[in-house]
Amino acid sequence: MFGKLKNEAILTFDIVTQSPLYIREGTDNSLDPSAVDGKYMTTYKDGKLEPFIPGTSLKGAFRSRAERVLRNNGACDIINRHECIPNNKLKPRTGQERYKKSCPICRLFGSNVIKSRVSFSDAYVFNEYKVGQRTCVAIDRITGSAKGSALYSFEYIEDAVFKEKIALQNFEPYQIKLLLYLIEEMNEGFLTLGGLTSKGFGCVKAENLELKIKQYGKDDLSSKNYEFKDYYNAKNVKGFDEISKLVSYVDFTKLKRDGDIDEQTI
Ligand SMILES: [Zn+2]
Repeated sequence: MFGKLKNEAILTFDIVTQSPLYIREGTDNSLDPSAVDGKYMTTYKDGKLEPFIPGTSLKGAFRSRAERVLRNNGACDIINRHECIPNNKLKPRTGQERYKKSCPICRLFGSNVIKSRVSFSDAYVFNEYKVGQRTCVAIDRITGSAKGSALYSFEYIEDAVFKEKIALQNFEPYQIKLLLYLIEEMNEGFLTLGGLTSKGFGCVKAENLELKIKQYGKDDLSSKNYEFKDYYNAKNVKGFDEISKLVSYVDFTKLKRDGDIDEQTI
């Protein structure tokens, strides 16, 4: 539990593919002789099977990139079991203390002792995308070498545009800055999605960024361009550069485990 709700933010953007995208469907079509070996992930939308990017895939890609970027700021390494707060008897008792003692990555993405403050929606396609098909030599998962002359055929998607929504609760300003930084890395091709990235797959760009913020309480925030609505203040900021200005003061090198909680209103 977060306790009191202080603020909320919603960051929306379009994910536009820049190269083929292959997020593999988990189901096995081996009983259907006409089926390809691998297919992009789909879900039913308006009664039709459409491609989508699972929110968990996006969150995973963002988290692992963030861990690399903030490695020198006390970020823990959950994959290699170096958690910043082990889930044992010695962990701090209150959620607030556990949050404060956590590294900047766990504070945002959550850990085994604190709940995540960010959620990534499943991103649904909303344009006329293309479906491509390729065949390559099958690679043995264990040895990493070619499986004799076995061929692997798969379907991927191209020229697709997806809509994504990232929601935050009780956020700190650095968390908005970190998400923007990761979006920039995505635009530059350092943060990729799905499989076959070594073949150039999975490059995407974020467009049409918009940030909606709500600050709860009756403070007068009109000097920060908020509009007062009964029991909260709200504002909308459009475009990467304008959103970046709100958090330009944040210095990543000052972030650390057990650091102060930044309660500044952006
Ligand atoms: Zn951590």
